[in-house]
Amino acid sequence: MKTKVCKDGFVWLVINKEATYQLFSSNIEVFRLYDDDSEAACDNANDVRFHNGEFGIEVGFVKGLLPFCPKCGNWLVPSRNPKYTWECLRCGENFNGGEIGSHSQTLS
Ligand SMILES: [Zn+2]
Repeated sequence: MKTKVCKDGFVWLVINKEATYQLFSSNIEVFRLYDDDSEAACDNANDVRFHNGEFGIEVGFVKGLLPFCPKCGNWLVPSRNPKYTWECLRCGENFNGGEIGSHSQTLS
């Protein structure tokens, strides 16, 4: 499944247009996602039909679920650099899984 993580840590589950139509017709709130991290609820079928970008349903904030940056303590998001697993949006560093700690590791 594809997700989109906004800079503020909010996560969307990205769905295709067919899934959006299905969810919309079962009264589940679906959103049009824009490249600038904004979104708009789909109020009617035309909102779905005429949007050429991504669609999503809300997953929620992931702060506390994601690992933290070993340098600055900010939460990490999946890296846009294919060579790395995680990226810190605050200090711009990329990390692989072995370099970082997660909440579950910290707690155990
Ligand atoms: Zn950092």
